[in-house]
Amino acid sequence: MATDETAVLSVDLAAIVANWQALCRRGAPGAVAAVVKADAYGLGAARVARQLYAAGCRHFFTAHLSEALPLRPLLPQGMLAVLNGPLPGTEPDYLAHHILPVLGSLDAIDRWTALARREGRPLPVLLHVDTGMHRLGLDAAGLAALAADPLRLAGLELRYLVTHLVAAEMPDDPANAAQLARFAAACAALPQAPRSFANSSGLFLDARFAFDLARAGAALYGINPTPGHANPMRVPVRLNARILQVRNVPAGATVGYNATWRAARPSRIATLGIGYADGWRRALSGRLPAAWPADFDGAPVPLVGRVSMDLTTCDVTDHPALGPGDWLELMGPRCPPDEVAEAAGTNAYEILTGLGPRVVRTYVT
Ligand SMILES: *Cc1c(COP(=O)(O)O)cnc(C)c1O
Repeated sequence: MATDETAVLSVDLAAIVANWQALCRRGAPGAVAAVVKADAYGLGAARVARQLYAAGCRHFFTAHLSEALPLRPLLPQGMLAVLNGPLPGTEPDYLAHHILPVLGSLDAIDRWTALARREGRPLPVLLHVDTGMHRLGLDAAGLAALAADPLRLAGLELRYLVTHLVAAEMPDDPANAAQLARFAAACAALPQAPRSFANSSGLFLDARFAFDLARAGAALYGINPTPGHANPMRVPVRLNARILQVRNVPAGATVGYNATWRAARPSRIATLGIGYADGWRRALSGRLPAAWPADFDGAPVPLVGRVSMDLTTCDVTDHPALGPGDWLELMGPRCPPDEVAEAAGTNAYEILTGLGPRVVRTYVT
């Protein structure tokens, strides 16, 4: 098949496995689950989950049931759980595919205990208690109701008690210790079960935060779990874009919408086949310094002018060898997602999950 892709995200699966293993060393003796929601943060959930499974990972989380269903056949053993919780009517899919719900309300608990009665067997679940995020999870009233009436959990096999940190990437934020204390109190009021607390950054707080199961997403994919400090993770992504045309523009000419860049000298402008419709954000216009010739260790190439929907321009005057068909690296170990995010005024999660369907994902192992 003839293809004309001009933007490629190359994903190093071995680096993701190495990141998971490094996180496992931090989480030990607890386990580390792979959070593969949002298509593994845009990298490709099927490939990422399969590779981690082959490396020994046995706990996986998605946000939606629809994300978990296609992964189940790839993960013949092990836990696959849905963070957002089960919507009414989805019960048969959870049961048929051995996908675990994360129950976060009395209503969901009551539905699942009724289901366990109808099925005539205990049903495995995770129980989410809110310790400060105030989005999902049992609130104080729900916890009190369960503490007063433990039979309300009858028929449920509690695999993990779960909560989620509000500010794990900020070690000095008092919210971390407060959530630790609230989680301890909540767990004391509930039946004994293993505990799941830390996300990626939580694993870089002190050892009390690791508990029995951490849930790591960002750090697997090379996002720095310790902002302000050197990134301890490997960056497994490279975003390359292809040069469509190179043109000569005279001194004084402008490039792109609204003429935000003007050539100070006779210049060669290369036009890349990637734009904000691909998740290469318009906010990067004039803010991201450079791209790198992908095939050789050249000097960086300045990006110039506005990022438009399908195109991005750069100044290759000092790179006479570059021409149509050549690839430039826009994001990767030399310019990691965190740096792109900083330039775009957002976080690296949004940069990775925002890469669009026109960006072809390729894999190296
Ligand atoms: C997304 C998510 C995670 C993973 O967080 P990272 O910061 O990407 O490691 C863990 N737990 C919950 C509940 C989440 O929603």
